[in-house]
Amino acid sequence: MSIKKVLKYGEPSLRQPSKEVFKVSKKVKELVHDLLDTMYAQNGVGLAAPQIGENVRVFVIDVSSNNEPLNPMVFINPKIIKKSGAFLSSEGCLSFPNVFADVRRYENVMIKAMDSNGKSFVLEAKDGTLLAKAIQHEFDHLDGILFIDHVRNRFDLETKLKEQNLPNLEVDKLIDEPELEEKISADIEAMKKAEEKED
Ligand code: ZN
Repeated sequence: MSIKKVLKYGEPSLRQPSKEVFKVSKKVKELVHDLLDTMYAQNGVGLAAPQIGENVRVFVIDVSSNNEPLNPMVFINPKIIKKSGAFLSSEGCLSFPNVFADVRRYENVMIKAMDSNGKSFVLEAKDGTLLAKAIQHEFDHLDGILFIDHVRNRFDLETKLKEQNLPNLEVDKLIDEPELEEKISADIEAMKKAEEKED
């Protein structure tokens, strides 16, 4: 068990799709411990295996706050089996130090995965909680997708990357999310209407 170096944006591992875990072996358990140790050392909410250079489908999350006991969650071979709703909120990533940007995510997700004992479980995260965000963010890492791929304001994002001396945006990487886009614009419209009524 040890603290590993977190790879920064630009490292090829972050863009590589990860392979399924065949068996929750001793090696996989060690990887889980390394991920947890590294995540806690960096004060992160989540960390995916590709971020420490291992392209396998494993990530860890802990959404407990400072005054709560640790609550490590391990996801091996995860599948998102249900998603609904949409919201926009600020996100960051340990592979992008000091870069934060607004990202569209589903409000509710249901995920199926194995824990570090190889036991399968289903978990539901609702109402756009930190856990719901973290699951989607970490899951993306396993497919070589990064949170910046969801950011619409490319110009602003490019500036933020430059400020942190990170590589430029890859032009072809913006993800098309018509479903989320539509839902969020409808919400904004509804909010405007409600405000007008109040005035
Ligand atoms: Zn990340």
